[in-house]
Amino acid sequence: MAYKLEENEHIKRQYEDNRKQLIANISHDLKTPITTVQGYIEVLEEGVVKDPDKTNRYLKIMKNNTEYINRLIDDLFLFSKLDIDQVQFEFSRVNAHDFFNDMMEEFQISHLESGFKFSYQNDIEASVWLRVDGKRLYRAIKNIVDNSEKYASVGQVTKVDVDLSTRDGFLTLKFRDYGPGIPDDKLSHIFDRFYRVDDERTKMLNSTGLGLAIAKELIVAHEGHIVAGNHKSGGAIFIMQLPLCV
Ligand code: ADP
Repeated sequence: MAYKLEENEHIKRQYEDNRKQLIANISHDLKTPITTVQGYIEVLEEGVVKDPDKTNRYLKIMKNNTEYINRLIDDLFLFSKLDIDQVQFEFSRVNAHDFFNDMMEEFQISHLESGFKFSYQNDIEASVWLRVDGKRLYRAIKNIVDNSEKYASVGQVTKVDVDLSTRDGFLTLKFRDYGPGIPDDKLSHIFDRFYRVDDERTKMLNSTGLGLAIAKELIVAHEGHIVAGNHKSGGAIFIMQLPLCV
């Protein structure tokens, strides 16, 4: 009984600490881009910038910052809904091979435009079915694929391979990119909310530190799991597993 009470106290304290940390992070992450936008508006208001190229550059910076604020608010909104169990999941039975083929083809087309190479191998057996909320699962996978493009570009190698297969009652998706990878000592944190490996570098990449945390929560809602690692010859690896329908 005493042990149980102490454990509950500990969980409560931990929750309170996380909540405070979260508020501090949100305030900081919103204040920085807003201050930037405000600064550029003031400069333009003064009317001293006459060079149209310079004006366009300032407008682009403002646009990037407002896009970042928008994304952060969307992510936070989804999180608050996940926290209070208000995300309305709409699960349905889908044929796994066809469902992922459609999704992968879409990624291939959308990445073609940006010059990023996206390849996939779909070895899922035709008779396999899954119970998924298509929209939410798409969001989780997109966050992982988008990261590969975002962070790979830092290392100048823009490519991701996805292997899809079925084994032991699970469907496995393995993502491998050819970017800089994730430092081994940081791997255990990358699914934490607001965690960014390199604050300075990721700021330039419109990074909120929420993408993988959201992906993980959505995958767990599908009773699946995800782990991250690095390939021995470089680049990040994400392995995601989802239970098959019986
Ligand atoms: P964000 O939404 O800011 O990209 P994530 O939660 O998706 O944040 O990722 C957390 C951190 O993990 C990122 O800041 C980045 O440093 C690192 N990371 C995620 N994916 C990759 C990847 N494919 N290659 C290298 N680093 C990555």
